[in-house]
Amino acid sequence: MNGKILEIQNLTVSFDGFKAINDLNFSLDEGELRVVIGPNGAGKTTFMDVITGKTKPTVGEVFFKGKNLRPYAEHEISKMGIGRKFQTPRVFQKLTSRENLELSCTQGKNVFASMFGKTSTAERRTVYGLLETIGLTPKADIRSEYLSHGERQRLEIGMLVAQSPDLLLVDEPVAGLTDEETEQVGDLLLALAESHSIIVVEHDMEFVRQIARQVTVLHQGSVLFEGKMDEVQSDPRVIEVYLGQTEADHQAA
Ligand code: ADP
Ligand code: MG
Repeated sequence: MNGKILEIQNLTVSFDGFKAINDLNFSLDEGELRVVIGPNGAGKTTFMDVITGKTKPTVGEVFFKGKNLRPYAEHEISKMGIGRKFQTPRVFQKLTSRENLELSCTQGKNVFASMFGKTSTAERRTVYGLLETIGLTPKADIRSEYLSHGERQRLEIGMLVAQSPDLLLVDEPVAGLTDEETEQVGDLLLALAESHSIIVVEHDMEFVRQIARQVTVLHQGSVLFEGKMDEVQSDPRVIEVYLGQTEADHQAA
């Protein structure tokens, strides 16, 4: 698996015979930023669930850094270096941005500790750096409950990064954000992409256009299309799937 941080082979996930994921193949290069899009019910969340070990494959395998994840539990996979950001921020409201980050730093797999020596000074330096990265230095000592929605999203991305994952999975990070906040989250993900492998699941097309290099389109549990954003937007099958979405939703209901 040279240069591949993630490799998914012939993956099928069945729920009582219904294939939420259907013979899916996928791979991600080390250091790549990939955006995964697809209509409702395409299998995006199930895809994330399988990578994190929350759901086990019915058929097929997931390899992370060349290692088959099948035998590992969710918390073990997390320790191996896969971090997931859920759609709703999970920050401690009564703690400040700084305190939330400090807490995450001590929970990680301690790459920082091994890099800088296990001193609190190093950890403090890390938190300063993280606050800079997520643009919250001026809000470091403000309780999280007083942050805006966008700031809270960035804080949670910072908390994820504090745990030093090699692969970041980010689920719809800009849902409900203003245009300006969306752009800030996009810039943050682009900055993090310099040093991490990242998969972002997203609906917001403007946002996808801002950050996307390579895009994977899921449909009915399989990869429908993979390519650059402009190729995706002009592909007739993708257009059909997106335009047909409301009708399909109707029929499913
Ligand atoms: P997406 O995130 O792209 O909207 P999901 O991965 O949530 O899609 O779901 C894909 C399909 O699998 C949907 O039709 C959904 O109803 C079905 N599904 C997801 N989880 C389960 C489950 N635990 N049991 C039964 N069906 C499920
Ligand atoms: Mg989903």
